[in-house]
Amino acid sequence: MSDYDRDARRLWSRKVHGLTPYVPGEQPRDRVFIKLNTNENPYPPAPGVIEAIQTFPVERLKLYPDPTGLATRTALADYHGVALDQVFVGNGSDEVLAMAFQAFFNHHIDPATAKETEKIVFPDITYSFYPVYARLYDIPYRTVPLADDFTMPLASLQAPSAGIVLANPNAPTGIALALDDIRSLAAADRDRLILVDEAYVDFGGESAVALLPEFDNILVIQTLSKSRSLAGMRIGFAIGDPHLIHALERIRDSFNSYTLDSLAQTCAVAAFADGHWFETTRIRIMTTRERTTKALESLGFSVLPSAANFIFIRHDRYQAADLYTRLRDAGILVRHFKQPRIENSLRVSIGTDPDMDAFITALTEITADSQ
Ligand SMILES: *Cc1c(COP(=O)(O)O)cnc(C)c1O
Repeated sequence: MSDYDRDARRLWSRKVHGLTPYVPGEQPRDRVFIKLNTNENPYPPAPGVIEAIQTFPVERLKLYPDPTGLATRTALADYHGVALDQVFVGNGSDEVLAMAFQAFFNHHIDPATAKETEKIVFPDITYSFYPVYARLYDIPYRTVPLADDFTMPLASLQAPSAGIVLANPNAPTGIALALDDIRSLAAADRDRLILVDEAYVDFGGESAVALLPEFDNILVIQTLSKSRSLAGMRIGFAIGDPHLIHALERIRDSFNSYTLDSLAQTCAVAAFADGHWFETTRIRIMTTRERTTKALESLGFSVLPSAANFIFIRHDRYQAADLYTRLRDAGILVRHFKQPRIENSLRVSIGTDPDMDAFITALTEITADSQ
């Protein structure tokens, strides 16, 4: 008898046995680290959000939240200059992405038409949740390799496929794709949906929301986790053609109608009402990013050009795994992916200026005493 026969894993479905779940970055509880490992915003939520939480009518929690997220969607539609029926909200953009995979990529395969037998595509180096969702929902996929300099392989993305998933700016590279490139991908086949994950767009990218008047086959997904400092509140959204939004609503209402709780909805509205804080903090992060990049380059690191709130770095003379451990010993957490092509790079979230000073100081010491 194997272990699986003896314990309750014998009750698992075939699906559960076959899964390879996503592994989130560490949230340490044992000691205080300078956390540069999960791309959280180092600044607190906007003062308007804090006030909204402090004055939230707790009594309201006995009621179910608005299942359609009307107030939140109104704030989002106003901010992005789109109609209310072009906006869908969910419990973090991970959930919205998962619903989009189910809504648009699990086509019935018709053996008569070659097109429907195509797989969806995404780059080999990108957000590692995409292959997890594809496997969870039995969606055939293939990856296309990023170029050696980690830019998008546009020609291979143009080839026929059942759909395209792009993070723009990409993760963990931070490299942004121009809107013209997304436009040409969308125009190449209007029967193919392009899912553009814009988790980091506010730190220097261009949003594909600008392309929506031209294309009904682009769905843009964003989050309040990064640029609005609300990772713990779990608010994400999608913007696209009303028929795409309707498909997402059909999935949601077949699963859980109340994905966004009342407090989260209140915070989302308050976050968009306090635009000053958003502008100040995102610009501060971009300024810190450029300063950190220069300091790292003078220590001999290569830094990819980032339009995100993180940088992807490597050093010819130091192993990323060693640097990761030495930084951890110095109380600084960064992200190291043990994955082909990027195992010698580190992804470093942009913290406050003092955080990044400590990071640079630690690396200066590490690179000095191992000469
Ligand atoms: C952080 C991140 C998300 C998830 O954001 P949540 O809204 O917190 O679920 C989605 N896509 C990418 C590329 C991310 O880095």
